[in-house]
Amino acid sequence: GLDITWAVDWVRRSADVIAEHRVELIKLDREIGDGDHGENMDRGFQAVLPKLDDLPAGSTPGDVLKLVATTLISTVGGAAGPLYGTAYLKGAVAAGSATSLDGSAIAAVLTAARDGIVLRGKAESGDKTMVDAWTPAAEAADAAASNGSDVAAVLGAAADAAATGSDATIPLVARKGRASYLGERSAGHRDPGAQSSALLLRAAAEAAS
Ligand code: ADP
Ligand code: MG
Ligand code: MG
Repeated sequence: GLDITWAVDWVRRSADVIAEHRVELIKLDREIGDGDHGENMDRGFQAVLPKLDDLPAGSTPGDVLKLVATTLISTVGGAAGPLYGTAYLKGAVAAGSATSLDGSAIAAVLTAARDGIVLRGKAESGDKTMVDAWTPAAEAADAAASNGSDVAAVLGAAADAAATGSDATIPLVARKGRASYLGERSAGHRDPGAQSSALLLRAAAEAAS
């Protein structure tokens, strides 16, 4: 199963991948939003990094998810801050105090994260938001875990589904968030939050392999 080492590695890889794609996320958000998504996410994940060194001995993956949640809530701002904050917080609750997460536990974490985003933002599938990455990811993780796949394969399936889900936002008309102000003109652009979600889930899979 995946332990504290994986959780910390996931956060470090997340900070790296968000920093690498900061400009891309800014460009995507400039097309259908206000252009701050890359900046917001980079600020949030850079703020988590020093806090990883202060985790007490015996911390669990759930503790790491909770640390990410509280940091993103206080530093990211905008729509994405509270949405991701809720996702990581609900994921932490699902992880509980387990020191190691198997495939079905990881699927439960991703499902709880998705449910948190939906609870907070009230977006449905097809509204052209990060939900369009998280819902297929959670469903793919659940299916892979039910088939007895190992935990790396469960996260790999989630990452693949999130990437496909991000691609699928391109033709959609936005019905939630700033992009919805553009109406039909939002079609033809990738949703920035779906893309950052796909990047974060890819980082989770890479930390597990
Ligand atoms: P803001 O729009 O406040 O500037 P960001 O640019 O950081 O915030 O984040 C925008 C992203 O947030 C969008 O690309 C979309 O994925 C996501 N988002 C916005 N509103 C919602 C919502 N109601 N439910 C789910 N995701 C949303
Ligand atoms: Mg924005
Ligand atoms: Mg903004």
